[in-house]
Amino acid sequence: MSFIINLVNEKLHFPCEANETVLDAALKQGVALSYGCKNGLCGSCKGQLISGQISYADGQPDGISNEEVRDGDVLFCKAIPLSDLSIRVKVVRQDQVIQVKKLPARVKQVTHLSDDVIRLILQLPAIEPFNFKAGQWINFILKDGKKRAFSIANAPNEQNELELQIRHALGGVFTDYVFNNMQVGAVLQIEGPHGTFYYQQDENAILLVAGGTGFAPIKGILEQVLENKPDYPIHLFWGLRTEKDLYLQDLIKQWTDQHGIQYTPVLSEPGENHQWDGKTGYVHEAVLQQYPKLSEFSVYMAGPPQMIESCKKAFTAAGLDDNRLYYDSFDYSTDALDAMKQKA
Ligand SMILES: Cc1cc2nc3c(=O)[nH]c(=O)nc-3n(C[C@H](O)[C@H](O)[C@H](O)COP(=O)(O)OP(=O)(O)OC[C@H]3O[C@@H](n4cnc5c(N)ncnc54)[C@H](O)[C@@H]3O)c2cc1C
Repeated sequence: MSFIINLVNEKLHFPCEANETVLDAALKQGVALSYGCKNGLCGSCKGQLISGQISYADGQPDGISNEEVRDGDVLFCKAIPLSDLSIRVKVVRQDQVIQVKKLPARVKQVTHLSDDVIRLILQLPAIEPFNFKAGQWINFILKDGKKRAFSIANAPNEQNELELQIRHALGGVFTDYVFNNMQVGAVLQIEGPHGTFYYQQDENAILLVAGGTGFAPIKGILEQVLENKPDYPIHLFWGLRTEKDLYLQDLIKQWTDQHGIQYTPVLSEPGENHQWDGKTGYVHEAVLQQYPKLSEFSVYMAGPPQMIESCKKAFTAAGLDDNRLYYDSFDYSTDALDAMKQKA
């Protein structure tokens, strides 16, 4: 049995099977609904149910509050239709539907960028093209079928390589393996690309806001933007705990020297008696100190969920148009979050 989903803000409709999520049905039809984690956590796919009924197969997702449910908000990555639906939800520009593939990837290079961040260069098979847009993410498929999401840190290149920047989540299944056992030459299974966090070509002044390894997709997006020699201002803010967490500063210096990119690192825990003479505090506060009004900007941001939530609230309150706020929230895997909930 299938239902019709009416997307009122785009004046288009598409079919959706009774056991399929609205997001999966849309993507299958080439309708690029905005989405991020696909796990009901990050809120990128949140929209409004105007008429009809939905259910959530695994119960109400953590990324939506009771108040939002009462107001008719829905997370379409987890919503399954119980009837025909009329909905309103953000759609991103997408000139082509990108095929999601499962591929083996060989670890070509491992570099320690800081105490708890490793850069992996993965070599993809030469005969199997892997199309993606800078800023998208992939899943690593583990031996037991569990999946772990990581952002691609480079723009597409002819070498068929992917760069990842991986922070050690202590006690985490995959990153423990990466930091303790993985060798150059290892073959990992990947699936992707996923997500709609990529450059939207809207040509406003751009603020790029990264938290920790949220720098990875921001780097990919910026590399792609720079290829087009942009004539609009771009300012990168990067929030980290301490000065020793900063990495790839030489690359950023090239961007500032050669392309006029503005750069502000912001430390939240610089430590007592620190020598740091740059910005301190939370990254969203540093953004608003410099740009109290955001109505003229597009903002691209990625990082831990707490940072994304603070930025969303603060930036929209400062006049940023919600349609020009693009983000990926680096939530932990759902199996780790479920295990933590059970323990609590
Ligand atoms: C779209 C997206 C893109 C991402 N991109 C990146 C990226 O580019 N770089 C990056 O570094 N991260 C990124 N992440 C975050 C990354 O996917 C998570 O940190 C992931 O969970 C790490 O996998 P893991 O197997 O090492 O840890 P997991 O096994 O998922 O564990 C995560 C944490 O939970 C704890 N935990 C697990 N089980 C329990 C339990 N039973 N009780 C208590 N604690 C427990 C672990 O100790 C660990 O600290 C991204 C996330 C998303 C959603």
